[in-house]
Amino acid sequence: MTDFQAVLNSIYQDAIHATDKGVVASYIPELAHVNKDNFAIQLRTATGKTFGVGDYNTPFSIQSISKVLALSKAMSLIGEDIWKRVDVEPSGHPFNQLALLEIENGIPRNPFINSGAIVIADILVSHLKNPKEDFLNYVRELAGDTNINYNIDVAKSEQSTGFKNFAAANLLKSFKNLNNPVHVVLDFYFYQCAIEMTCSQLSDTFYLFANNGKCLQNKLHITDRQVKRVNALMLTCGFYDEAGEFAFEVGLPGKSGVGGGIVALLPDHFVITTWSPGLNKKGNSKLGMQALEQFTTKTKQSIF
Ligand code: GLU
Repeated sequence: MTDFQAVLNSIYQDAIHATDKGVVASYIPELAHVNKDNFAIQLRTATGKTFGVGDYNTPFSIQSISKVLALSKAMSLIGEDIWKRVDVEPSGHPFNQLALLEIENGIPRNPFINSGAIVIADILVSHLKNPKEDFLNYVRELAGDTNINYNIDVAKSEQSTGFKNFAAANLLKSFKNLNNPVHVVLDFYFYQCAIEMTCSQLSDTFYLFANNGKCLQNKLHITDRQVKRVNALMLTCGFYDEAGEFAFEVGLPGKSGVGGGIVALLPDHFVITTWSPGLNKKGNSKLGMQALEQFTTKTKQSIF
């Protein structure tokens, strides 16, 4: 049996002694204050065991990781109709790329680039009675934890600087791929990205994607087929223009965010979450990616 705690401990030692910890995202001013010496890794196995090291109980901004949760909620609300409005191809471009959207007549390349996530946000705004409240409750229910919250300062900070997201939303609106007013959809989107969670809470929240759609409380939220789709999208589109590199190095479906979090999973086996706020040039957590490469290599547990 693999001694998971020993593997995590050795990864932690390498990470805290690393000389290059990447660069903390500063385009959302509120995120620039985060100390890049934070490092955490936490594992939840399908057999119910948890292992962690470092700051795994410190909340951080999950940012783009929320796009997976928004997608799963939208899937449970409107099913396959989503794919009339968003495609499922990797972009090979940064998350805020606008050019592709124009070429593809307002159909975003996938639900994890910003334009795609803004369309998903529009679907949630249309179908949820109290969108922000209902979405937060959905996330809390998946995690089995009512302490999860939005960080309003982060949401407001992005609201005041998110010019490219306003541009993307306006472009989508011009192609008639947004049904609600731009400011309403973006208000929801900025809050969604501003959810804070610890590594432990994130592993718990993502458990359904490793457990055939059933959350930790054993409630079925999405079907097997939908889980297959979400995991395929995480593998092919979960790491901006570095999804190929993540599959190559780590070999797991996963999703990163500019807050420095990464969550990845092996269906039927485990969910693993890392947090290290310094990013590499492609916007993924530098040490988080390295940690996950070490984890799947040392434990021989990847989908490949
Ligand atoms: N809220 C961020 C944005 O739209 C999310 C970025 C990310 O984590 O990729 O720019």
